[in-house]
Amino acid sequence: MTRKVLVFAEVKDQQLRNVSFEAIAAGKTVAEGGEVVVALLGQGVDGLSESLFQYGADRVVVVNHELLAQYTTDAYTQAALATIEAEQPEGIVIGHTSIGKDVSPRLAARLQSGLISDVTAIELAGGNVVCTRPIYSGKAFEKKIVTDGKLFVSIRPNNVPALELDTSRSGQAEVLSVEITNLRTIIKEVVRKATDGVDLSEAKVVIAGGRGVKSEDGFAPLKELADVLNGAVGASRGACDAEYCDYSLQIGQTGKVITPDLYIACGISGAIQHLAGMSNSKVIVAINKDPEANIFKVADYGIVGDLFEVIPLLTEEFKKL
Ligand code: FAD
Repeated sequence: MTRKVLVFAEVKDQQLRNVSFEAIAAGKTVAEGGEVVVALLGQGVDGLSESLFQYGADRVVVVNHELLAQYTTDAYTQAALATIEAEQPEGIVIGHTSIGKDVSPRLAARLQSGLISDVTAIELAGGNVVCTRPIYSGKAFEKKIVTDGKLFVSIRPNNVPALELDTSRSGQAEVLSVEITNLRTIIKEVVRKATDGVDLSEAKVVIAGGRGVKSEDGFAPLKELADVLNGAVGASRGACDAEYCDYSLQIGQTGKVITPDLYIACGISGAIQHLAGMSNSKVIVAINKDPEANIFKVADYGIVGDLFEVIPLLTEEFKKL
């Protein structure tokens, strides 16, 4: 069945996040040959539409509004609903990011639609769009189809591959003006923690430290290795609770859920709550002094040893490449 699909792109610091391109690819599958329209909500985002076309958008609708300069639930919900109202899509795709997790259930409720959240794979099979999603903290996967109503899915970043960039594609973005009223929240100022380097949620390589890192300074070799591999530093909750690093680095059930190509766990025991955030990583390397550590059960490669000896050796070798 051919569907018109609306894909919500995501912008951070005036840049499109990769999940926007992945959502277009998912949108193409949901559309089954129908039109894929990308909604770009924000302020001053007009200039970003070109790459959306190049990654497969058939049309791009831009909603430019000063109250969308920073994400707020109220403003974004109103703008998204106005776009859905104007486009009348039969399918909707959004990233399962902090924004997507906040807004998608709200939109689904307003639209009286279902929602298949946190989808890690999407394919056409047996005449249906089949969505795969993890359950029980990633211990099992379920496949879902929608038999009636809108096909609304949120996709986990770094799982659905984006289409090949096609620089021969282009288009003219359309502007939709929306009214945003009666906001219960207005952001007056954003104070950011200084985070440098690659965004943890979208990083292809993550070097994560646990309580075994032993101190804030103990993260320095991990940071050096991450820099060499153009990766990001993450952490277990054990390391965050011990104040070795900020909670924004926490990976797991109550932290970030990530799917990098390479995950190197350093001094992390592998508690079930940690595994929930990283066990779908494509390649897992564990460095731990304890050969019985649970993390080795999910690791593709295990190194039994002291992380303060092993990490500098790895860094030196990777520098040579
Ligand atoms: P530990 O379990 O103390 O492990 C440290 C490891 O380091 C050990 O295996 C040790 O052998 C190794 N080690 C020590 N020194 C070295 C060295 N020099 N070289 C190499 N290895 C060394 N945890 C999360 O991570 N994320 C979550 O989202 C999360 N959510 C939770 C939610 C709930 C409701 C609860 C109850 C818990 C949650 N936890 C979460 C906590 C989780 O249960 C574990 O306590 C935590 O993951 C342990 O962190 P850790 O592996 O760093 O520490």
